[in-house]
Amino acid sequence: MDVSSLLDGLNDKQREAVAAPLSSMLVLAGAGSGKTRVLTHRIAWLMQVENQSPYSILAVTFTNKAAAEMRERVEKIVGNHMGRMWIGTFHGLAHRLLRTHWQDANLPQNFQIMDSDDQQRLIKRILKSMNLDEKQYPPRLVAGYINGKKDQGLRPQHIDAGAFPMEQMLLNLYRVYQDSCDRAGLVDFAEILLRAHELWLNKPHLLAHYQDRFRHILVDEFQDTNAIQYAWIRVLAGNSANVMIVGDDDQSIYGWRGAQVENLHRFLKDFPGASTIRLEQNYRSSGNILKASNELIANNPERMGKELWTEDKDGEPISLYCAFNEMDEARFIVGSIGDWQDKGGALSECAILYRSNAQSRVLEEALLHKGLPYRIYGGLRFFERQEIKDAMGYLRLIANHDDDAAFERVVNTPPRGIGDRTLDILRTTARQQQLTLWQTCQRLLEEKVLAGRAANAVRGFMDLIIQLGNDTTEQPLYRMADWVILHSGLKAMYEEEKGEKAHARVENLEELVTAARSFEMPEELEDMGELNAFLSHAALEAGEGQADAHTDAVQLMTLHSAKGLEFPVVFMAGVEEGIFPSKLALEEGDRLDEERRLCYVGMTRAMEKLYITYAESRRIYGREDYARPSRFIKEIPPQYVQEIRLKAQVSTPLANNRFAHAQQAFDDSGFRLGQRVMHPKFGEGAVTNYEGSGPQARVQVNFDDVGSKWLVVAYARLETA
Ligand code: ATP
Ligand code: MG
Repeated sequence: MDVSSLLDGLNDKQREAVAAPLSSMLVLAGAGSGKTRVLTHRIAWLMQVENQSPYSILAVTFTNKAAAEMRERVEKIVGNHMGRMWIGTFHGLAHRLLRTHWQDANLPQNFQIMDSDDQQRLIKRILKSMNLDEKQYPPRLVAGYINGKKDQGLRPQHIDAGAFPMEQMLLNLYRVYQDSCDRAGLVDFAEILLRAHELWLNKPHLLAHYQDRFRHILVDEFQDTNAIQYAWIRVLAGNSANVMIVGDDDQSIYGWRGAQVENLHRFLKDFPGASTIRLEQNYRSSGNILKASNELIANNPERMGKELWTEDKDGEPISLYCAFNEMDEARFIVGSIGDWQDKGGALSECAILYRSNAQSRVLEEALLHKGLPYRIYGGLRFFERQEIKDAMGYLRLIANHDDDAAFERVVNTPPRGIGDRTLDILRTTARQQQLTLWQTCQRLLEEKVLAGRAANAVRGFMDLIIQLGNDTTEQPLYRMADWVILHSGLKAMYEEEKGEKAHARVENLEELVTAARSFEMPEELEDMGELNAFLSHAALEAGEGQADAHTDAVQLMTLHSAKGLEFPVVFMAGVEEGIFPSKLALEEGDRLDEERRLCYVGMTRAMEKLYITYAESRRIYGREDYARPSRFIKEIPPQYVQEIRLKAQVSTPLANNRFAHAQQAFDDSGFRLGQRVMHPKFGEGAVTNYEGSGPQARVQVNFDDVGSKWLVVAYARLETA
């Protein structure tokens, strides 16, 4: 490909950035202005015009999905010459470093990654062994403290807890926690970054090697880097690498996780030669969506200030739907997706975005009900599901007997009669003697501290793990997975459980074998063996390898995981005070700006059509709330918005409007959502949901005395109250 075509499809400002002389650069620009496109083209430019080897390039993006997409986009431009270029997330790249230099990083070769769930279990165990009350030291809070310190690059010895007893105890917990991680060869997510940074600081020869190598460093979504990520890049860049960062202060949404938007300013200070390029033309969203987003974000103080414009037409207005409750909301969304499909659109062009994962369940139900396939990014991801983690626990323990988190997970799953008392003895001894749980078992058995039934049960468990390992050493990964699921007793346990949920769990376990079979060993990790590579893959890339990646499916994700992506049709669901902005943000006033940025991120994902929905009442987290529409809705000027009313929907003469049909049938039944009704047996209540029509029509009524019930309208003898 020649030089000119590398610059095709770029505007003047974008060209300026892509073709800039070798130097450091900040590209600061709003959503959809082509930042990621510029970054990708710059990589191609470096290789093709500046003749830089892919070996000398390091590109960092925010999610695995983005990294894969970037690799693909660059490959498209330069062909298959990517060679040994490093592209990945901060965590992915840091992990790779630690795998390569595990000795220098002071880790065992088979170290395992702990996710946040494992981390909290470990903390619980520590609290117990120290006789501390979980209520006084909630594991989440302890984990937050530890991760926060690590994100700032702080080890216990760097922290001065002062005279505050709470802080002193947290510090102490951090110390004990870290000791047990080190003993068990476990690293949490924050640890991956911290260790990689310490590798630079403690091993100058390694640093020198990588500084020599990576002449070009490019970072996307820079506004969301935290202190340790910044430091890692800063040190690696030294005084001579060319660093290009792209970002948007208006899209900084990880402040709660320690991201520092000030890193943008810091960069300009630390790299005095760096130039700043601003992009102002938006290529993603139609006029109404873009103008509405601009107006919304203008409510934030302290912005670096950017204006975005588009050549695109105004397009459709933003549709605003006020639902009666969360089920009505879900049904509206699914109905609108059906309309999009009827017009020839693909499901994968539709994304449903929500503030918290718990919101997905109702949406999933509505999609299932309509038979529409969907995929979830983040949240209840495949590798996070209970049964999968159980199975992975066995695999982990086989790979590394000292993995305490895995030991805890599977020692009694399925139950094998190792009682709480025995476990308590194991935990306490482990802590006192600085051993892992496995080592403790060995010792207590040798010393005959454990005897009788307890000893037999523990010995039985250890034998099982060893046996599973022996049976599968020479087997390919998927056979191993299959064998372990069967012979650990996991499958039988879930099969016995009965019910749909248990059935799904068995299916998931089976799916794990498929996942193992289709697992492709990344070249750079070949040394670590298939099992370890797979375990790391599961921990790092949870959810991104779902088997149905190729079917056309609606995309569901939290607003956070939507960053950097774009979709023709976007639904933002649950835009209510207390949900979005979240309750927490409302309580702590300073978090509101970040919520607004999150709203800006959500809106600017939409290319052609944006729907915003909210519900008047919502059942979530096991209770029912009445909510007001989010303040963000009011911040969007009315000229960009069209409100959709139920009645308007019904009278729309759309030939194939499934939603309208259902609605019509419901109206014919004589009831409406929210209506008070009377039942001869159950008493008074309110209609909350409906489905079907004619003789099949059913309504759900929330009765004041007996709670929620589904009733067939034809038989229920309901009267309006
Ligand atoms: P975000 O802030 O959301 O990450 P971004 O600034 O990274 O957005 P891109 O994703 O790079 O923006 O680009 C947004 C869309 O605009 C993409 O579909 C991209 O292909 C398209 N685009 C970017 N620049 C141009 C251009 N000069 N001409 C036509 N399309 C463009
Ligand atoms: Mg981008």
